[in-house]
Amino acid sequence: MPLNKSVQEVVVKLANRHIATLNNCHIKIFSRDTPVFISQISLHFLPEPYSMTEKLLQYIWRFLHFTQADLFTTAGEPVLIIFQGQYNSNQGPDFMNAKIRIGGTTWAGTVELHTRSSDWEKHAHQHDKNYDNVILHVVWEDDNWPYPIPVLELKGRVPGVLLKRYEDLMEASTFIPCEKNIAGIPAITWKSWKDRLLAERLERKAALVQQYLSQNGNHWEESCWWMLARNFGNHVNTEAFEWIARSVPLSLLAKQKNSLAQLEALLLGQAGLLKQDQPADPYYRQLRKEYQFLQAKYKIRPVSAPVHFLRMRPGNFPTVRLAQLAALLHQSVHLFTRIKEAGSLEGVRSLFNISASGYWHYHYSFDRESGYKPKKLGTAMIDNIIINSLCPLLFAYGTYKGEPGYKDKALQWLEQTAAEVNSISKGFVQLGIANQNAFDSQALIELKNEYCSKKRCLDCGVGNALLKAASY
Ligand code: SF4
Repeated sequence: MPLNKSVQEVVVKLANRHIATLNNCHIKIFSRDTPVFISQISLHFLPEPYSMTEKLLQYIWRFLHFTQADLFTTAGEPVLIIFQGQYNSNQGPDFMNAKIRIGGTTWAGTVELHTRSSDWEKHAHQHDKNYDNVILHVVWEDDNWPYPIPVLELKGRVPGVLLKRYEDLMEASTFIPCEKNIAGIPAITWKSWKDRLLAERLERKAALVQQYLSQNGNHWEESCWWMLARNFGNHVNTEAFEWIARSVPLSLLAKQKNSLAQLEALLLGQAGLLKQDQPADPYYRQLRKEYQFLQAKYKIRPVSAPVHFLRMRPGNFPTVRLAQLAALLHQSVHLFTRIKEAGSLEGVRSLFNISASGYWHYHYSFDRESGYKPKKLGTAMIDNIIINSLCPLLFAYGTYKGEPGYKDKALQWLEQTAAEVNSISKGFVQLGIANQNAFDSQALIELKNEYCSKKRCLDCGVGNALLKAASY
């Protein structure tokens, strides 16, 4: 059998300390000092040339994806891994609380990993007290670095098929790197992985709520108002709508609550949409007059962030969305309280069963009349609000109060809401992955954006299952 480059390297390296013989399937290793047979390595474990990374090496050590039979330090002392340690993502060695028998002694301490043994010096660990308790230096490749900590080399012990699969994942440029294998992931793996993805997504969104709370003195109703306004901004006007909400606090809006026209005037005026003189439109003139009065009364000024109309469906025009927001404020009080205490998702949906005022039945903007169409909040928009505002708010509230019931309710609402259909969910569906409700679609969006696109396959439940399958 012709030797490939990596096999030749292993034979030469072993021959420095041991005597090695090679046949078609195995390398047999003997001690140089005593002619005793020590070990046999299956060629299955010899990797093709591969550029090892520290992250992959940490993964291999963490899940023990290497053959543990007949382990020796580079100095020839036998090694038995009793516990590989807990992965440490903070400062200091990579694994804490490890327990390893080296030679005749059982050691407890930390383990540090590097692709080459000389990296120890490159990273200046010899001057860092955090590394005083390292009991084993695990390396992919020993480049004969002379420091008195036992070194264990893993090269040649990791299944080549695992390394190849990882390399394929890192090099793929398809929709997701693992798309050839993802259909084989068992349902039980998906279930637990989606649960975690959802929790991560909601925690990140809840961070925005926490930020709001820190700015408005833990005012949940105000935070809900800001969040909803942002949601009504529909991507293009998200920031501008949030600024509009911030510029007119709920305490101010409550004073005008009984007049839908005044609420519209406040929101449209703060958006800068009532600045021009349009004498031909009586409703516009009425709103403008109301706004000028309220502006002087409350000493408010339009926000500086402009709202945009370009490249959007007329139903999403900021005029329509602000008029709907005004209708929501007109119809509801203590919205967040009603949302969090709602007994069912249907009850929540009914809170958003609103329509902009009569003028908007014939308009999408002030300058042009259109055919009759009441500007009700549609099912898709209500679903969008449930997914992007209400569930994160509820989840954040559960975290804040230490009451998991609210967090569970947020997850249930996602399960009861229709799945989002977009390029990401369609991509996964084409690969045979279920997208049955908003719980699924949110998990898949999180997976694609936070893991697949960033090539975080080593941190991914699917990636772990695929690499584990390749390690046997
Ligand atoms: S992150 Fe996970 S799902 Fe995405 S490509 Fe990697 S292994 Fe596949």
